[in-house]
Amino acid sequence: MEAVMGVNDSAQERTIPTGEQGTRVSRPRVLVAGASIAGPALAHWLHRRGAEVTVVERAPELRPGGQAVDARGIAKEVIGRMGLDAAVRAACTDTAGAHTVDADGKVLETFRADDDGGDGFIADIEILRGDLSQVLYDDTRDGVEYIFGDRIAELAQDGDGVDVVFAGGDRRRFDLVVGADGLHSELRAMVFGPHERFLRHLGHVLAFYSVPNEFGLDRWLLEYQDQESGRSALLRPIQDATRAMAMFYCASADFAVDYRDVAAQKRLLRERMAGLGWLAPDILAHLDDTPDFYLDQVAQVVMDRWSSGRVGLLGDAAFSSSPMSGQGTGLALVGAYVLAGELAAAEWDPGTGFARYEARMRSFVEANQEIGRLNARTRDVPGPDAEPLPDFTGEWFTELVGRAINGVELPDYAGAPDCAAPAASPITRQPRRR
Ligand SMILES: Cc1cc2nc3c(=O)[nH]c(=O)nc-3n(C[C@H](O)[C@H](O)[C@H](O)COP(=O)(O)OP(=O)(O)OC[C@H]3O[C@@H](n4cnc5c(N)ncnc54)[C@H](O)[C@@H]3O)c2cc1C
Repeated sequence: MEAVMGVNDSAQERTIPTGEQGTRVSRPRVLVAGASIAGPALAHWLHRRGAEVTVVERAPELRPGGQAVDARGIAKEVIGRMGLDAAVRAACTDTAGAHTVDADGKVLETFRADDDGGDGFIADIEILRGDLSQVLYDDTRDGVEYIFGDRIAELAQDGDGVDVVFAGGDRRRFDLVVGADGLHSELRAMVFGPHERFLRHLGHVLAFYSVPNEFGLDRWLLEYQDQESGRSALLRPIQDATRAMAMFYCASADFAVDYRDVAAQKRLLRERMAGLGWLAPDILAHLDDTPDFYLDQVAQVVMDRWSSGRVGLLGDAAFSSSPMSGQGTGLALVGAYVLAGELAAAEWDPGTGFARYEARMRSFVEANQEIGRLNARTRDVPGPDAEPLPDFTGEWFTELVGRAINGVELPDYAGAPDCAAPAASPITRQPRRR
């Protein structure tokens, strides 16, 4: 095993006997799977609370791409507490707002970025997913060990720790393991059961990729919806409007494509978008020359528990609310703060820490999942058997949106350690050659 700074102190120096519950650790070693949003955000807080953190990411490097993601309400507060407000705002999209258009490009409706105090349809913190991931990674890379191009192959836990075998062959022992490995979490499947048990497909598919901005976009996002087929296409300027990020959306009851087989996903997208009007054919013409591509089913993860012993889940792996909620990133950021805070406040006792994290987050998560389901239903293809949509002008909806944006208390965790001191040198390992 490659020597890694700070992970060779003896177990005796790190453990404090606590009788019946086995041992508690003063400086736990925590392994986090996934380096997108939830993983690096958790790494930030665990490091600050005094843990030794390793993040393992399956991809050979930080994954670029994805549409803009939003931080609203309480998630903005977490970004502020991370000290990343300026860095995140500097990387924001600078979107003025959104126009919905008809097939000829005529504007039908307009939403401005400053509507609803910046917490509306376009949030005032709106950042490309890849850019936010980069900000979080840059912030943590000096104090956290990152391993790219590897993943957990086997895992066995006992009362005092978790033995992990990596696919690349390394064997290591950790005090806690957290899966932040997304909607199709392998860690969840390993510890909690098969995907089908937890995934709720909302009957739609989404795809994102960047194209040259040959459409004259400036600071406005354009969306075209074909009401009859339930399909839509969207374009937004990125990279100083030199390029544009495209999104396609369609109803799809079945989803039989491997989520890692990009060629098959592109074929599926071409098939499903055939005949869509507006600028769709011009956007599809760039499918083979795009440097980034992401397609997935619109799905949620619904679980009774987000932990089992010393293994916990965070972000989409635990509670995906789907892109239709617009809050997947907010949930990941808030969840990371609460999880690290509760574990540290419980002196790293997994039973107590994970239980308090779940108790705090549950209703917040459920409100966002409800919004995601309702939003997906508004895009269902209308049919004779379709359930009527609820009245969104009612007070119940205002209350639900309020709970989805701000419905979680953020304790100060004043008693828990908070050491934001920068570490010495980067300890990022390069992708393995296999
Ligand atoms: C490339 C990409 C593009 C996205 N685009 C959008 C978008 O446009 N709009 C939107 O709403 N949401 C998008 N998402 C999802 C969005 O990032 C999440 O909903 C939200 O931010 C919560 O993030 P997360 O970190 O929990 O999960 P994710 O962002 O899904 O990240 C999971 C990470 O875990 C890694 N991983 C997977 N399996 C393993 C494994 N076995 N071991 C180690 N690492 C593993 C993945 O490579 C990824 O980096 C995208 C995700 C990715 C990865």
